[in-house]
Amino acid sequence: MNDTPLSSRETIELFDRYVIPNYGRHPISLVRGEGAYVWDAEGNRYLDLFPGWGCNIIGYSPPRVVEAIQRQAASLIHVPNTWYIQQQGEFAAALCSRGFGKAFFCNSGAEAVEGAVKLARMHTPDGKYKIISFEDGFHGRTFAAVTATAQPKYHQGISPLIPGFKYAPRNDLDAVRELVDDETCGILIEPVQGEGGVNLPQDGFLEGLREIADQHGLVLIFDEVQTCMGRTGEWFGYQTFGVQPDVITLAKGLAGGVACGAIVCKDEIAPSLRPGMHASTFGGNPLAMAAGLATIETIEADGLIENCRIMSERFRERLSALKQELPVIEEIRVCGLMVGLDLAVSSTPAVAKCMQRGLLVNATHDTVLRLLPPLNVTGEQVDQGCEIIAQVLAEMSEAT
Ligand SMILES: *Cc1c(COP(=O)(O)O)cnc(C)c1O
Repeated sequence: MNDTPLSSRETIELFDRYVIPNYGRHPISLVRGEGAYVWDAEGNRYLDLFPGWGCNIIGYSPPRVVEAIQRQAASLIHVPNTWYIQQQGEFAAALCSRGFGKAFFCNSGAEAVEGAVKLARMHTPDGKYKIISFEDGFHGRTFAAVTATAQPKYHQGISPLIPGFKYAPRNDLDAVRELVDDETCGILIEPVQGEGGVNLPQDGFLEGLREIADQHGLVLIFDEVQTCMGRTGEWFGYQTFGVQPDVITLAKGLAGGVACGAIVCKDEIAPSLRPGMHASTFGGNPLAMAAGLATIETIEADGLIENCRIMSERFRERLSALKQELPVIEEIRVCGLMVGLDLAVSSTPAVAKCMQRGLLVNATHDTVLRLLPPLNVTGEQVDQGCEIIAQVLAEMSEAT
């Protein structure tokens, strides 16, 4: 790497020349972060209430994770899964003792979903292969994951998709019952839809899916890539809703910002992922495992699940008050530190306006302004963020 730091403009020029332009990027280059703050190449500081798309679950460069990675890198960076390593055993134990079952490690959310789909097919009798997933869901971009993602915009130009995926409307148990047939092997759902706009399940819906899965011998998979690691105010989203799935997929915040994914499944299902049938070369590597352990340690030592619940309430209060004042806000949806403001207008312009005022947020599903604040966000930062959002939405209300 160049010793002289580049300006944002210079870095953008490099991208224009050499990086495949598949992302819409904000026109700034980020160089350093700490907690909920991040700095660009020009030295501007931003309050980031959407750090790392939720991957930075305990903020930028959390000290225990930094230290764990540095220490681990000096002894072993990578070891393939033909060997045992203590860190993988310990991280699996840490996850499963806070959840259930046994873990398989990979590197990303989509990879975890791919593995879970294979597991559901392998665990059920031959001939059963169909998976039911849900409208407005999001499961990643590899082929099974994107096929499971029931949003036509993500399917353009890439057909044929993988056979065997059926889509049900959200919160409609009858529709799910209708889709189940002799070839169905599983149900795949995010307990709270993230990318789809922070959509919470209606009361009884997840319980209903559990019943249908039990009746028909289906594997119930919760995609917890975004809802894991305390995000919903419990270690895992299924605990928030009190419904036990057979399999969960994990990634995003799993290792405090280091690439890491996992499948956790019930003990009795685990043998179905037979030796030789699934693998991931980098999965469960010492660096990611050390980072994951340090993430769990930080969440616990710093009481961050409790902080998540407190800050969740604070967002709910601040934003509900704002909704009274600004009719442009149609609905506030909050689950732990997943926050969505559904607007009467496109949410995209609000992102740039917030950025001009030093606040980073996300726009999703056309009209939803989305926040995934770090679990260690402070009350002051919540208030500061809500204040900027208030200014921006007031300005947008005047314009309409
Ligand atoms: C982000 C996300 C994925 C995809 O994760 P990648 O790491 O980008 O592959 C899958 N499922 C859910 C629920 C997600 O939020």
